[in-house]
Amino acid sequence: MLCDDCKNKPASIFFKEVLPDKTVELHLCEECASKRGLLVTKKLSPVEILHKLLKQQSAQDERVICPRCYMSLAEFKRVGRFGCSQCVATFDEHIKSLIKQIHQSDRHVGRKSTPGTKKGLEVYKLREELKKALEREAYEDAAKIRDKLKGYGIEDA
Ligand SMILES: [Zn+2]
Ligand SMILES: [Zn+2]
Repeated sequence: MLCDDCKNKPASIFFKEVLPDKTVELHLCEECASKRGLLVTKKLSPVEILHKLLKQQSAQDERVICPRCYMSLAEFKRVGRFGCSQCVATFDEHIKSLIKQIHQSDRHVGRKSTPGTKKGLEVYKLREELKKALEREAYEDAAKIRDKLKGYGIEDA
C-alpha cells in the first residue's frame, strides 16, 4: 500500500481517528506522517505506554463485558482491577493486545476519541438493572434490558 499523501512511498504508518459520525483512516509513509505531526519521536518506557494505553478508551471497551459480574473492559481500565475471576478470561485477549501494542508502539501512531460519557453512563445503569433483574430471576425484565443494551450496540450482555 502506498502512502495516502505522497502516493509514492510505501505506507508504514497507520493512523486512525474515530469521529462521532465516521472513522478516518490514513496510511502514511514515515516522512508524511512526521510532516503531519503524527509521529511521536520521544520513546516512552513500556510502563508509560501501558499507562497511556490503559487511559485510552475505545468504543469497543463498553462492549467487552464479563459474563459473570458484568464489568466492562472500560470499567476495568478505570478501576485497574478485575471484578471477579471470570474477568481474567474475559479481558485476557484484550490485555494481551495492549501488550502487543506496547511492542509496536514506536511504529503505531493513533488517537482514539473517548466515547460519549452519557452513553457510557446509560449503559452502566442498564447493566446494573440487568444484574438486579437476573438476581430476582425477572427474566422478562432482563430480556427487555438486554434489548435496550442491544440498541447501544452491546450484543453479549
Ligand atoms: Zn508519503
Ligand atoms: Zn467478572
